[in-house]
Amino acid sequence: MSIIDDYISQNKGSLEAYEKAKGLLPSGNTRSALYWRPFPLCMRRGEGSKLWDVDGNRRVDFNYNNTTLILGHTHPRVMQAVRDQMEKGTMLGAATETEPRLAEEILRRLKGSDRIRFTPTGTEANMQALRVARTYKKKPLIAKCLGAYHGSWDGVTLTPNSPGVPTGVGQSTVYFPYNDAGEAERVIKKHRDELAAVVVEPTMRDMTPRPGFLERLREITTQYDILLVFDEVISFRLGYGGAQEFYGVAPDITAMGKIIGGGFPVGAYASTDECMSPLKIPDAELPETANPVLGFSGTFNAFPLAMAGGLVVLEEMIQEKYDLIAGMGEEMRKGLRGVFAEEGLGVFVGGVGSFFFTAWTDQEVYDHASSMTADRGLANLFNIGMMNKGFFILGHPNVSAVQSREEISAALTAARETVREMKPMIRERAPHLFS
Ligand code: PMP
Repeated sequence: MSIIDDYISQNKGSLEAYEKAKGLLPSGNTRSALYWRPFPLCMRRGEGSKLWDVDGNRRVDFNYNNTTLILGHTHPRVMQAVRDQMEKGTMLGAATETEPRLAEEILRRLKGSDRIRFTPTGTEANMQALRVARTYKKKPLIAKCLGAYHGSWDGVTLTPNSPGVPTGVGQSTVYFPYNDAGEAERVIKKHRDELAAVVVEPTMRDMTPRPGFLERLREITTQYDILLVFDEVISFRLGYGGAQEFYGVAPDITAMGKIIGGGFPVGAYASTDECMSPLKIPDAELPETANPVLGFSGTFNAFPLAMAGGLVVLEEMIQEKYDLIAGMGEEMRKGLRGVFAEEGLGVFVGGVGSFFFTAWTDQEVYDHASSMTADRGLANLFNIGMMNKGFFILGHPNVSAVQSREEISAALTAARETVREMKPMIRERAPHLFS
């Protein structure tokens, strides 16, 4: 049976759910990243490192809601904290005691940040962080990397000229390739009088920074008095103090999300007291003057369930756990490299810490252009082959702190079998991958 036929026969309930959704949602889907051909799975339940779909198939998760669930699904302490909060009310229309506790826990980890703001998503964390940067610097432009994702809003589209973006907004962003310090310097220098900030993911999705790249960005931005913003929505899981501690480069502003909300929608951005001054309510006697320069008043900012769950996640994530997941991530990277080499294939395996990813290209993947050389059809087929064998691989594959070494070795065996099943297709579509 072909990989696709096997998938269809295993997932009849998911197909039915998808067919129904297709009549109601564009492409039957609400998150573009969670769509794949021939149809996405419909999940019912998660526990620890496992997921169960509507057909009752059990899979080992290597996605964890795109890197969010660093302690796995339904972690007992997280669930208890969330239940306790839920019984007191989901939203109270006022600040809660948990908010400053989570703030303290995050700021302890971010050296150089004194203040933090919570948002409902990573998208809004970046959006507000960059607006604060523009306000603080009184300059209009932002520079970002080509292909970098900083959320679904107009100011930071993956590449220039994205559909639906007003011309003026599009013109407020300039681009440079990730890992190209020379080009970054050229773009920054050219726009230095108008640039408020440079925003970059310390590890761009699964691509890692070349030695010196982040350091050079730090030097150039300091030289031209431009703010450096690290989008650590994903990379914050790289270490106790995030990717900035891991790589030893400190930004001016840090945007976060995912792991800090205990599995609930969340975002946050942190910086120095000085940089966050546009958010400060001036001391004033008259209430009508008591407005910050910039007001962001999201109904679901600092969502109490996210604050409660996130606090437990960070309390649990001590140094040993970061070491544990980084060790398992390395086992996956090494194991996959071994599988591809032994099967005679030149496929790129990358990642760092708990991240591992495969790009179906014989080139090194280090920026947007090189990532575009990868064959997405083969990547999808590999993921589906792994799903057929009980492993949920998708998006930004990663391991969580509840992953077991047995799951890693079983996943590597499944990867080898999947690669063997794929060989006729690889020969047909991408013969150059055979070394
Ligand atoms: N920045 C990065 C680096 C991300 O990966 C994401 C989400 N994948 C976001 C921002 C947006 O976060 P959210 O989906 O919570 O809006």
